[in-house]
Amino acid sequence: MWREGRELWLRALLTCTIGACSILGDFGLKYGKNEPERAVFDNMTHATVGGLTWTLIVVLSRKPLVRNLSSIFSCFLLASFIDLDHFIAARSWHIHDATHLQKRPFLHCTTVPIALWIFFIVLSNTFHSPILEHTSWVILASFLSHHIRDGTRRGLWFCPFGSTRPIPYYLYVSLSMFLPYILYWLMSLHTFAEKNNGNTLDK
Ligand SMILES: [Zn+2]
Repeated sequence: MWREGRELWLRALLTCTIGACSILGDFGLKYGKNEPERAVFDNMTHATVGGLTWTLIVVLSRKPLVRNLSSIFSCFLLASFIDLDHFIAARSWHIHDATHLQKRPFLHCTTVPIALWIFFIVLSNTFHSPILEHTSWVILASFLSHHIRDGTRRGLWFCPFGSTRPIPYYLYVSLSMFLPYILYWLMSLHTFAEKNNGNTLDK
């Protein structure tokens, strides 16, 4: 009973922290003194929201946080590294060049994480590898948390099909807060389907 109450509070706290971090990050982006400061603040917000997203998934899965620190850190790093494609597309290490591109850079296309997720899921099913399955969800969580946050400014880009309109602000904050719940639900559906196929993974 006490444990259940504590879990509920932890979920609520993490959900609210994701929302608060996103809003705080947007303030930093709006009121930052100069371009490098704004870029660093924005990127750290992406990383923090990514890390918190996976932390909440771990809590929802009722797995120990300490034993999952590496995947939390992977999600944190991956959510940050996505923005490196700005520099690759600009072929320059200058912040100004990286933030003034004509087109959105390739890792900002939401089709990429979906394709990667399918690829890793198929690989994990073929080789019965829980690590590959785990990797597929970490990739999806980090990319989606990043893309949803960018989506409030520029919409979601599903190349080659096109982009959605910018996500309304409060919808973006709500989506960021509920993304871990949606992913956890999808993960449990996938595990359930595997169990029914007699392919039980050692979790
Ligand atoms: Zn970005």
